[in-house]
Amino acid sequence: MRPTLPYLQQKFDYFNELCFGGQLPQVRLRLSRARTFMGQLRYKRDRKLWFRTTYTDLIISISTYLDLPESEVEDTLIHEMIHLHILLSGQRDTSTHGVLFRAKMREFNVKFGRHISVSHRTTEQERKQDQRRLRHLLCVCRLTSGKVGITLARPSNISRFWQQLPLQPDVAECSWYLSTSAYLNRYPHPRTLKIYSIPPDELSAILDEARPLVREGGHIFAAKKG
Ligand SMILES: [Zn+2]
Repeated sequence: MRPTLPYLQQKFDYFNELCFGGQLPQVRLRLSRARTFMGQLRYKRDRKLWFRTTYTDLIISISTYLDLPESEVEDTLIHEMIHLHILLSGQRDTSTHGVLFRAKMREFNVKFGRHISVSHRTTEQERKQDQRRLRHLLCVCRLTSGKVGITLARPSNISRFWQQLPLQPDVAECSWYLSTSAYLNRYPHPRTLKIYSIPPDELSAILDEARPLVREGGHIFAAKKG
């Protein structure tokens, strides 16, 4: 189905009562033709008024680009309503879909038999909003197939990854970098070796700013950018 505005309004009211005790304020609902997201919460952050941040122009957009089963349209709407709930509660989540988000998501999935997810709802818009400059230990791997992939290590496992990656049968060559690119925030830190694909233009932009990692005498450190 493709939702209409009256349908969305009716569902918003219904899930507001059912899941949030009717506590969410009315926000603008909008239909969108977007291909890059299924649902989206947008807002403006107001200047701090007595140290309290307030939010205005709250809009939930639901994409009608795909013809989806009704339950998926509902799950998309509830997903955005969880974002709204956390935003207005004044709590700060650990990330876009952090501890708070996942706790609510699991609660509703169990209590109401929903299938709300974060994976394929992590929209490009949301990823763009994650602009934190974190320190990423990045390994760029050229594969025997000719493709290039990346993986991220933690300080606790970089030595192991450093040693094991070149031994993988499909890995031809590895090089390590320290990068603070926000683009990398979207990638997981795998516990066991996993190589992820990355658009070549994104990778070259990242490498322009990255510092090579050097291993000497069991120590790994970032080389000065030459
Ligand atoms: Zn989301």
